[in-house]
Amino acid sequence: MMDRPLHEVDPEIAETIVLETRRQAETLELIASENFVSEAVLEAMGSVFTNKYAEGYPGRRYYGGCQHVDVAENLAIERAKKIFDAEHANVQPHSGSQANMAAYMAVLEPGDKILGMDLAHGGHLTHGHPLNFSGKLYQVSAYGVDRESEQIDYDAVAEVAQRERPKMIVCGASAYSRIIQFDRLAEIARQVDAYLMADIAHIAGMVAVGLHPSPVPHADFVTTTTHKTLRGPRGGLVLCKEEHQKALDRIVMPGIQGGPLVHIIAAKAVCLQEAQSPDFKRYQEQIIRNAGALAAKVQEEGFRIVSGGTDNHVFLVDVFSNEITGKTAEEALEKAGITVNKNAIPFDTHRPLVTSGIRIGTPAVTTRTMKEAEMQKIGELIGKVLREVDNPQLQQEVFEEVKALTARFPLYAQRLSMSQSSVG
Ligand SMILES: *Cc1c(COP(=O)(O)O)cnc(C)c1O
Repeated sequence: MMDRPLHEVDPEIAETIVLETRRQAETLELIASENFVSEAVLEAMGSVFTNKYAEGYPGRRYYGGCQHVDVAENLAIERAKKIFDAEHANVQPHSGSQANMAAYMAVLEPGDKILGMDLAHGGHLTHGHPLNFSGKLYQVSAYGVDRESEQIDYDAVAEVAQRERPKMIVCGASAYSRIIQFDRLAEIARQVDAYLMADIAHIAGMVAVGLHPSPVPHADFVTTTTHKTLRGPRGGLVLCKEEHQKALDRIVMPGIQGGPLVHIIAAKAVCLQEAQSPDFKRYQEQIIRNAGALAAKVQEEGFRIVSGGTDNHVFLVDVFSNEITGKTAEEALEKAGITVNKNAIPFDTHRPLVTSGIRIGTPAVTTRTMKEAEMQKIGELIGKVLREVDNPQLQQEVFEEVKALTARFPLYAQRLSMSQSSVG
């Protein structure tokens, strides 16, 4: 039993993995929150560290046999602190959402007031959505973007903060294409004596290499996922000032989690090692150039880009200006092998499952080493599909072009050739 390969033990699951490997290789991945990890990260994630219980922290565990786990977790912690120039790092949160829960619970009590960015304006569920724990546990007020510029209106944030007197201001976003001025938000928080939490889940890779201003000097807590622009395993981490170290560590474990995912922590260490190479900085620079090039091309194809462009890895397209919904656009593009997600745009009049927009991001295609020339091509294909969303034949033709393009930028080549021999 122990040494039989997956395709013998569970052929059904083995097949889903083969098909998913092929899907990832053949299609264009433009979901802004996704990326492709390196073989090194995959190897650490698939390692025997998955077998180990390690409740506690390095040097202070509730289980024996943690000597190698301690080394791995310390490497992840030290690398996170170094890359982000932080006083303390906790690398155990299982996800970005749990990183946020930890930061809140470290200093807030249920019923306290938080002020976060409106989900419909680019914020995240965990920043106070009524269906999320954050909206249930805390009294939430929200800020958004200016109707004209579609960028954060810092004076309006200050006004709401003065009126609501929140105990914590939450900043950071899932669908915001402009630089976030963390220093200004810190000033606003100081004026009302609130904590500042910056959630850099999307932009962590750019922050790590200095291509986006860092919130670390300004915020009490900085949270992030490790699987978006940081290009590591699915997971989260929290950085904080030394004064919050004890409260943070105690709330992650035993507060909200049990045993850490040691294989994932090892993989986080690997991605944080990769993030220190000159290649990683060049990668982040290219993500930004690609997003700018793709946004410009999609605009040239006749679509309105929210806020007129992008400073980072992501942008929103207002497809309803061309009389289609985000849902229709997402479905048409998927049939053509181009994966995006529907997304609310600021002041959207459609329901969240319909929306007026799509969100497009370049981290994953940039990992495949695509550059501005490929962005021109992709923008053209997006334009074609969206101008005729009810044309299955066109979608098929575009899919063939997508396959030809992605074939020139192989992904997990070895895994794919292995899988092609095991499934027809
Ligand atoms: C993706 C994201 C998260 C949550 O990450 P999960 O790992 O999916 O829980 C939190 N905050 C922001 C701003 C995000 O974009």
